[in-house]
Formats: sequence, structure tokens, C-alpha cells
Amino acid sequence: MNITSVPLIDLARTHAPLEADLKAAFERVLHANSYIMGPEVTRFESACAEYLGVKHALGVSSGSDALLLALMVLEIGPGDEVICPSYTFFATAGAIWRLGAKPVFVDCDPLSYNLNLSQVEAKITPQTKALIPVHLFGQTAPLGPLRELAQRHKLPLIEDAAQAIGAAWQDHKAGTVGEFGCFSFFPSKNLGGFGDGGLLTSQDDTLAEKARILRTHGSKPKYYHHYVGGNFRLDALQAALLQVKLPHTDTYAQKRQAKAARYTQLLNEAGRPEQITLPAPVSADFKHVFNQYILRLQNAEQRDSLMAYLNEQKIGNAIYYPVPLHLQACFADLGYSEGDLPVSELAAKTTLALPIFPEMSDEEQDYVIEALLCWGARQ
Ligand SMILES: *Cc1c(COP(=O)(O)O)cnc(C)c1O
Repeated sequence: MNITSVPLIDLARTHAPLEADLKAAFERVLHANSYIMGPEVTRFESACAEYLGVKHALGVSSGSDALLLALMVLEIGPGDEVICPSYTFFATAGAIWRLGAKPVFVDCDPLSYNLNLSQVEAKITPQTKALIPVHLFGQTAPLGPLRELAQRHKLPLIEDAAQAIGAAWQDHKAGTVGEFGCFSFFPSKNLGGFGDGGLLTSQDDTLAEKARILRTHGSKPKYYHHYVGGNFRLDALQAALLQVKLPHTDTYAQKRQAKAARYTQLLNEAGRPEQITLPAPVSADFKHVFNQYILRLQNAEQRDSLMAYLNEQKIGNAIYYPVPLHLQACFADLGYSEGDLPVSELAAKTTLALPIFPEMSDEEQDYVIEALLCWGARQ
């Protein structure tokens, strides 16, 4: 087949072989006459808890709400500070801000793009109430050292594992080490639903129970409120459909890893353009599930030029993320300025995500590689 375009991700191809099972799940919910929470959600939660090897898994309305709920359980609010990376999706810091607390941004590592652990300690103050590392692009932050750091300062750890279901550090899966793990089932995540959805995990009975109560407006029993919570529930339909996909999570991850390895191998063999740096090799401590495959260019002009070329060739690409959070207009009051977190700022200007999804064909990948080489030859 002659390839003339490659999408960034193609969910239709993921779902096609599951169509009969997805329809059966839909019909089961249709006929169960119960659409929010209920047995479908409970079953899905048990399956997630088993897959992750975690004591408690709560289906919630989104990854963003999982983060918000975790912070609410910890009673984080005005006057409190929460440490998180600047180079991440907005929701990580948005949840902190919405509770009236202050996000304290830390720069990222230039190779993994994850939180730079060595810079965390200097940002801890008596007001610091939690740490939220993000397992960016499908690779966990180093969970052992993070746990140790959090324990030394008696700070709860909330893992933003939205992009990293199935990822691991040594034998610890993402979302199982901290007080909380927060997952997203946004369609483009490694385990994507058919709309919004998320999961909050915890190994702690007391924290999980409070999260359960806050998930439904803080009521227990129904209509009796000791806390003010919210509506953070997962739909039965999402749970039923996600249950069809959950057993494939590791296969999807393996296929993504194989695509990533193939990009790296073929680009190196073909004489990768010197302007393009490939993702850093993954050390044996990490299981990287490649939610994204990220290139680094030498400067912003090159990145924008490559982006324009890929667009011309109809090759999907994306910038994750063009503005680091410490420079977002809504956080201007926090007083950060350009130059404060230089590694994040440079990453925002020079990185580009390539197409990667489990069903991407070798021919499609060859077309992307060819385009990168052609672009390089023109420089
Ligand atoms: C997607 C994502 C979220 C938010 O998840 P939603 O389900 O879209 O609300 C949070 N953090 C990170 C790092 C994400 O990638």
C-alpha cells in the first residue's frame, strides 16, 4: 500500500477488533437500566486494582478529577503549597490552584522530561503539603528515590500517572507507590475510554474511604454530609467499555515499545539528521510505555520547520507542551518569569511528538522516517 499520510494516533484501528465486545458491553449497560456507578464500575475497579496490584481503585470522572479528589482528601487548601513539575499537562497544577493552594513549580530533567528530583528539596517549605510528580510521556519518575524523599519530609506523594498506565520503576507500577495514583482514560491515553474517565488508586484504607465519600458530594450515608465533595463519578458505560480494553493494556504497551525501538534503531542506522535528538535510552530500572515518542531539535526555528514539513507530508505531530505552566497567563500572580525554569522552557520550544500507536504499520513508520531524513537533507 502506498502511504500518503500517517495520523498521530488512530483509535479506530484499536477498536475495530474489539467491536463485537464493545457492542456487547454497550448492550449490557443499555439493558441493565443503571447508568452511573453500580456493578459495572465495581467490576472495572476490581479489574484495575488487580492489574495494578493496588489495594483500592476508584473509578472517577476524569484524570483531572482524580488529582482534585486526591488533594481534597488531603484537605489541601489556602495557604498550602504543592510541588509539581512545570513541564506537564495543565491539570496537574490546575487541581492545586482550584483548591486555593499554591503550585510550586520545579524544572524537569533534560533527558526524561520528568521532575528533576535534585531540585525538589530546595523548594520544600513549612507550607509544603504534598508532592505531585508526573510520569510524563509514559515513563515514571524514579519512584524509589521519590518515595524516600517524600517520607523524609513526611509529605504525601500523589502520582500523576495519567500518561503511564502499566509503566513501572523496578517492580513498582506507576500509581502504586504514592499515597495516591491518578490515571486518565481520556481517549488518547494508553488505556483510553469513549469519553472522559479516570481512576484514583491508593494502598491506604482510610484515604481511599474518604475519597469514596468525597466522590459523591461527601455524603455518607446518602444525604448526610460530613464533608463537601463533588460529583466525581464514573459512568457505568465507560466502565463497561474500558473493561473490554483493560486486558490489552500490556499488549498495547509492548507494541508502543516496539515502535519506539524501531524508530530509534532505523533512524540511527539511516544516519539521523544531526539536528534531531531521539528519546534518551531507557535505563533498565524503568518500564516506559511510550504514550509519546518525543524528538528534540536544537532550537525553536528547527522545531517549527520540522513541524511545518511533517504537516506538508500529512504526518501527525504535536507539541507537548508549548508553554510550561510557570509561564501560563493564569499563574502570573505566582511571579515566575522567563528564565526561572530553563530546562522546561527549552523543552517547550524544541520538542515534537511523532505518531506512535499500537497498530501503526511498518510502512507508515518508514514514511515518517523517510520524511525526517528528507527534512534533514534540506537543512
Ligand atoms: C491527560 C492528563 C491529565 C488529565 O486527565 P483528563 O482525564 O484529561 O482530565 C492529567 N495529567 C496529565 C499529565 C495528563 O496527561
